Amino acid sequence: MRQVLVAGNWKMNGTLETAHSLIGGILVGVGRVKAAEVVVCPPFVYLEAVSRLIADSPLVLGAQNVSHENPGAFTGEVAVSMLEDFDCRYVIVGHSERRALYGETDERVAAKCERVLNGGLTPIVCVGETLEEREAGETEQVVDRQLASVIERVSAAALGRAVVAYEPVWAIGTGATATPEQAQEMHAFIRQRVARENAQVAEGLRILYGGSVKSDNAEALFAMPDIDGGLIGGASLKAQEFLSICTAAGA
Ligand code: PEP
Repeated sequence: MRQVLVAGNWKMNGTLETAHSLIGGILVGVGRVKAAEVVVCPPFVYLEAVSRLIADSPLVLGAQNVSHENPGAFTGEVAVSMLEDFDCRYVIVGHSERRALYGETDERVAAKCERVLNGGLTPIVCVGETLEEREAGETEQVVDRQLASVIERVSAAALGRAVVAYEPVWAIGTGATATPEQAQEMHAFIRQRVARENAQVAEGLRILYGGSVKSDNAEALFAMPDIDGGLIGGASLKAQEFLSICTAAGA
């Protein structure tokens, strides 16, 4: 039985003040979300504040990115060991914005994934195709390549300690959600791909959907058999909206 997970990716949004009020709003209702694990991923600089605010609550802390290096002379980077100081348990790796805007290759994403796993944290590994790739009929090929590079680096067995997020790039921040059927098709593909390497890991692997999830489409998406929760961008910045999505996931 896979525990449903909803992770809010705040991206580069907000201030210390809005971080306080957002967490305050989520804390009011998160106790009622019984069946889903709820993760918030604020910007690095707010991790400490958020970590204090959510101590002794069901909320779990995650980061949006991490260095693939161990601590050292890497100006501007943040190491996995630093995230541990704030009881960070999840790290998003390979988000499409990191791949597209910061040149993160499959190899780099795999290296980050390995570093996170070695640190005992859980990577949320993002995969997904662009619109051009989908229209060219390359969706499965792209996702297969992205997954394969992680599996080659960390092994299929280690993937059992990770979470995968299928995020079609064309659905991120665009309002154009994949239909539940489109998403299910790719989630099933991902599970089968992993099953080819390790059936047990595939069965237990949590695969999140991300891409314009909102309170009004969440339930239909989460009802799909291979969708185990969501990675939520824009809608995670509004406490009530985020809580409604969490409730839909835990239903
Ligand atoms: C994301 O950035 O991971 C995401 C899914 O964003 P949004 O929900 O805004 O589409």
